[in-house]
Amino acid sequence: MRQGLAIRKRPCILIGSMQKTKSNLFKIIKASTGLGLATKIPINKGEVVIEYVGNIITAKEADERPNRYLFEINSRWTIDGAVRSNLARYINHTCKKANCEAEQRGKQIFITAARNIAAGEELRYDYGKEHFDEYIKPIGCKCDWCLAKPKTVKKVSKKKIKKHVSKKKSKK
Ligand SMILES: [Zn+2]
Repeated sequence: MRQGLAIRKRPCILIGSMQKTKSNLFKIIKASTGLGLATKIPINKGEVVIEYVGNIITAKEADERPNRYLFEINSRWTIDGAVRSNLARYINHTCKKANCEAEQRGKQIFITAARNIAAGEELRYDYGKEHFDEYIKPIGCKCDWCLAKPKTVKKVSKKKIKKHVSKKKSKK
């Protein structure tokens, strides 16, 4: 009983030791966008991969200290995940074929496995439209999905150029 009470009073220590264990399960790797996070062990579909931890701040505070690690819980509360203990902040965005997804449980955000994930795989989830439009779109998405499809993009833009040219000719 006493031990249980002591742990309850000091939740920070519990979280700290949890994160230490987590660092044995994950590896920070070099990815197309800088750094990324890979799992060292296989994870089954539906399992919690890692919690997105950080300081819970108000929406107003979030507006005052914008950083790319803000995770909005609702219109009132946001998690500021720009803390060292938040390994989940290394998980990169992908537009398609994500192996993880973000799940909200109360005021907590958990990254869960969207499919079975093999040991050594890089973890990725879709950051969502709001984050994409604000932080990724302006610099161009470098996720593996987007990097793998330059051929399609080129074809489309060439067609557009041709159309443009033929229109100009017809005007003359
Ligand atoms: Zn992309």
